[in-house]
Amino acid sequence: MEGRRLAVIRSHLSQGNPSISSCGVHSSPCGGGSGGDASRRGRAADTIWKGNCIFCKIARGESPAFKLYEDDTCLCILDSNPLTPGHSLIIPKSHYRSLEETPPSVVSTLCSIIPLLSSAIMKATKSDSFNLLANSGAAAGQVVFHTHLHIIPRREDDCLWRSEGSLRKPFKHVQEAANLADDIREHLTCRNHEEPKLGEGE
Ligand code: 5GP
Ligand code: ZN
Repeated sequence: MEGRRLAVIRSHLSQGNPSISSCGVHSSPCGGGSGGDASRRGRAADTIWKGNCIFCKIARGESPAFKLYEDDTCLCILDSNPLTPGHSLIIPKSHYRSLEETPPSVVSTLCSIIPLLSSAIMKATKSDSFNLLANSGAAAGQVVFHTHLHIIPRREDDCLWRSEGSLRKPFKHVQEAANLADDIREHLTCRNHEEPKLGEGE
């Protein structure tokens, strides 16, 4: 268990700093790595996509937005098509396609400003609650493929969803949960063997 925890920590450190190596990179059966033609084609496609990405354009000041906050790493803007007044987006200035592809150090910065921003947004909109939403991937509803977090201020009378509770399905057998937990822990260990993607987010 301790070994697994160290593996995950090592993986996170190496993503933030490509010069820190993760041991046994290519020998893992599940280590995909990032070399090869497919990876190069992927990076070229990303470069083209970045040129047209609306959030990159906003970050570069080429498209207008109501900016609420900015630091070296990220900015927060009002959503142009809000679910509720004050619906805002926290966006890294660099381009990452999804939360999953965003380096932990950047995710950490995005998350660190949630309390500051959410409290200001709630005060301004006279809300006492908010939803924090991240759509990561098309099946999860992601439309703009540049990482972002939604802050959606909520009020009792806003007529949006109350809770996702009614959609939940309990496990039919405890073994099902145990197998799934094993599988996920296994993937956490494997993740240590994946190399960080170089050249991302520049
Ligand atoms: P997703 O479904 O990808 O998580 O959400 C994308 C969000 O970006 C949507 O809430 C959408 O309204 C918002 N959005 C899309 N284009 C623009 C834009 O040009 N400016 C701003 N401020 N928000 C945008
Ligand atoms: Zn972008």
